[in-house]
Amino acid sequence: MHFRLLGARLHPQSWKLSPSRGNGRQTSFYPPMASLLLIIADLFVAVCFSARNMALDDPANLEKPCFVDASAKSEGERCKLVEFDALPDYLKDNEFILRYYRCEWPWKETFLSFFSIHNETLNIWTHFIGFIIFICLTVLTALMIPRTENPTSSMQQYYSSASVMEINGSSKLQSEAELQIEAASSLPNWQIPGCLISYLPQRFFSLDSNLSNLLLLKSMEDVSNIMSPLMAEPVTRWPFFTFLGGAMLCLLISSLCHLLVCHSKRTAYIMLHLDYAGIAALIVTSFFPVVFYSFLCQPFYRHIYRGFITTFGVAVVAVSLVPTFQTTEFRLVRAALFFCMGLCGVVPIVHKLVVFGERPEAVLSAAYEVAMMALYGMGVAVYVARVPERWMPGRFDLVGHSHQLFHVLVVAGAYAHYLAGLVYLRWRDAEKC
Ligand SMILES: [Zn+2]
Repeated sequence: MHFRLLGARLHPQSWKLSPSRGNGRQTSFYPPMASLLLIIADLFVAVCFSARNMALDDPANLEKPCFVDASAKSEGERCKLVEFDALPDYLKDNEFILRYYRCEWPWKETFLSFFSIHNETLNIWTHFIGFIIFICLTVLTALMIPRTENPTSSMQQYYSSASVMEINGSSKLQSEAELQIEAASSLPNWQIPGCLISYLPQRFFSLDSNLSNLLLLKSMEDVSNIMSPLMAEPVTRWPFFTFLGGAMLCLLISSLCHLLVCHSKRTAYIMLHLDYAGIAALIVTSFFPVVFYSFLCQPFYRHIYRGFITTFGVAVVAVSLVPTFQTTEFRLVRAALFFCMGLCGVVPIVHKLVVFGERPEAVLSAAYEVAMMALYGMGVAVYVARVPERWMPGRFDLVGHSHQLFHVLVVAGAYAHYLAGLVYLRWRDAEKC
């Protein structure tokens, strides 16, 4: 979680200056569906690059910023891509990315640049594809919610099975069972297995002394074992869907920010702050599944942790949106807020391992969370180091620069967190308080 803190602090800074970064090669982090989407996107971009390669290499396209070329704009001519030196200060961010900048394009051209090639194209698409992936994951998760079985039909199915019918006196057993089924259908599903174990055997023992008690006991145990998992109520999903919503919001806002930042200084300022708030939303909502499912049976810790992270999240969003807090005198306050937010994420994970260390689900979910932190950490490291473009300025202008890698690692980190969430659901569907 601490790396999220760093990521949240650093990511929006990129908007202060400008565009840069590019592609997604780390498809091995994804399952087949997600990998497929990334491969399709790679292919799409590769085709676009090939088609427009000549135009991009034409020096005439890099001559001057479009805002200087007023006559061309009035004639509806396409805006030109410019070099780093031609940018106003607020769009200058990464001096190792030399060409293919959009600069103060009109709204229409800015929106249409979603489909054209420039040095922000893959920044836009990496998070837009991440957004699509998380929509798919949300739908899949919604479809995976286990449904409780209809107790009446399940029990009828069981009692008509051959093993039960082989019992001597099975006709009496069946008729008695049918009466119990009818009575049980009015009970909540999760109470039925308990009733079967405690009540039905006694009824059957007194029904016919010729019946095999052992067989009946086995029969009742079997039916309980079969039906218990079917009738267990699934744990609530809202904390998990909250995280998925936060992830989708953050990715969509980030993609929009990269698309629109080139329009004007004012737009860049607004987008920077929205991006900042989106990242804070992702951080806060990411903690909800960890805290809720780990401490499902300990409401005290659940409320404490959730209260802290929500408070810090609201504070960070406020800090992100209120201009007063952007001044240098609040710099320490901003840093302290993000630090506390990161700490809020690490503490419950450690606490979970201390309390549930013997549970495989707790260990597995913690492993995914460590993977998530590692991915975010790698992303931040790449972002700060500005590699690989630092080594070969101009070589990675379109594909492969640090911000693109950072984006891919952020999506991969969020996906690792999604996998941790699935472990929590399996754990808490099977075991509640
Ligand atoms: Zn970005």
